[in-house]
Amino acid sequence: MHAPSLPDRSIEAYAAVSGRDRLERLRSLAEALEAVRVLHVNSTAAGGGVAELLRSIVPLCADLGVDTDWLVMDAGDDFFEVTKAMHNGLQGSGARLTEEMKATYRTVTERNAAEIEDEYDLVVIHDPQPLGMIDRLEERMPDAPIVWRCHVDLTDPSEEYLAFVSEYTNRVDHAVFSRSTYGDEIDVPTTSIVYPSIDPLTAKNRSLDEETVVSECDNLDPLSFDAPVVAQVSRFDPWKDQFGTLETYRHAREEIPTLQLALVGGMAGDDPEGLELYERVAAEAVDDPNVHVLTDLPDATVNVLQRRSDIVVQKSLREGFGLVVSEALWKRTPVVGSNVGGIPLQVEDGRNGYLVEPDDVSSAADRVVTLLKDENRRRSFGENGREYVRERFLLPRQLVDCLDVFVEVLDLER
Ligand code: UDP
Repeated sequence: MHAPSLPDRSIEAYAAVSGRDRLERLRSLAEALEAVRVLHVNSTAAGGGVAELLRSIVPLCADLGVDTDWLVMDAGDDFFEVTKAMHNGLQGSGARLTEEMKATYRTVTERNAAEIEDEYDLVVIHDPQPLGMIDRLEERMPDAPIVWRCHVDLTDPSEEYLAFVSEYTNRVDHAVFSRSTYGDEIDVPTTSIVYPSIDPLTAKNRSLDEETVVSECDNLDPLSFDAPVVAQVSRFDPWKDQFGTLETYRHAREEIPTLQLALVGGMAGDDPEGLELYERVAAEAVDDPNVHVLTDLPDATVNVLQRRSDIVVQKSLREGFGLVVSEALWKRTPVVGSNVGGIPLQVEDGRNGYLVEPDDVSSAADRVVTLLKDENRRRSFGENGREYVRERFLLPRQLVDCLDVFVEVLDLER
């Protein structure tokens, strides 16, 4: 296990964007937790939404006076192949789960658990990867409640994987899901729903001056914002359906021949499928000079792309939440997204973007073309998106919800 290095953060900096009342509420919850030590455990320090969230939540909890650590599992590809299969299985498809895979999972999770030296009053396990640590955690810290923070879209899980994961989730004290329907098949004493959020003050999301925008555009060259741009920012993962996005673009290009597509992705440390999919997507796009497949862009460049694109597309087939949707809406960019998982929580159809069925490429293309041809609509959708995210999906709101869960689970006085 290792602790990622984290920047210093100050909650006070969020007053302007999130309002004083929310910060006061946060401070009073943090007071209730002042004698509590919290540990978050997950399986990657970079890439994907969970790492993105913890990078902000952990230092801000520390700033609020809640003693909070974050440990990331150390594991090799054999483990991550198993856990990616678990992730896929929980989202409804994937390879058979063999006894050998289960053994790899148990060995690696137990080895990591044995490396935890300190004691905590509450442990938050993110996603299925670290769940196998539960025996050891119970042994070492018998009084510490264990919370499972599930970020996966559990709409239609495979029985086999659900049964395996349930061996562990049956023993957690509380589970937190990103959408109310996700917890239906999981047997846990208490559950809550906490919507994820974006951090408006990071390099990814903060406002940028014109000079920075211009210099970051160099990283996107030869993409040009002088012609229409549609972008999707996602790990290279079959659930994100980059091939469907390509097909959507090809349909839309019939109406808008100057259209460009940016497919931006990264490879999360715990996702061995990424590289192979990236290569397939890049090969498919190689003959079209208006399709740009870009990897590992700095956060400020992703910021510029989400800000300057005419439309952001999120054509996922499953989506636990999809932070990228709020990231785009916050930057006043309308989103055309699939009506799956967390996307409809963020996209208000006909107000800040459009929802389409995940297999309906031709409707997705129609929506893209409609928006590209109507600048006024894009502008008003952009304003609506900004306000929708301000109310619901900024970090201080999520922090209030998280600390609320901790106070509840520890049965503390508010
Ligand atoms: N991301 C990024 N660069 C990339 C691809 C993704 O910075 O090339 C970020 C993206 O901006 C977002 C997170 O990774 O903050 C992805 O989170 P999301 O919830 O959308 O999806 P997940 O990867 O967790 O399924």
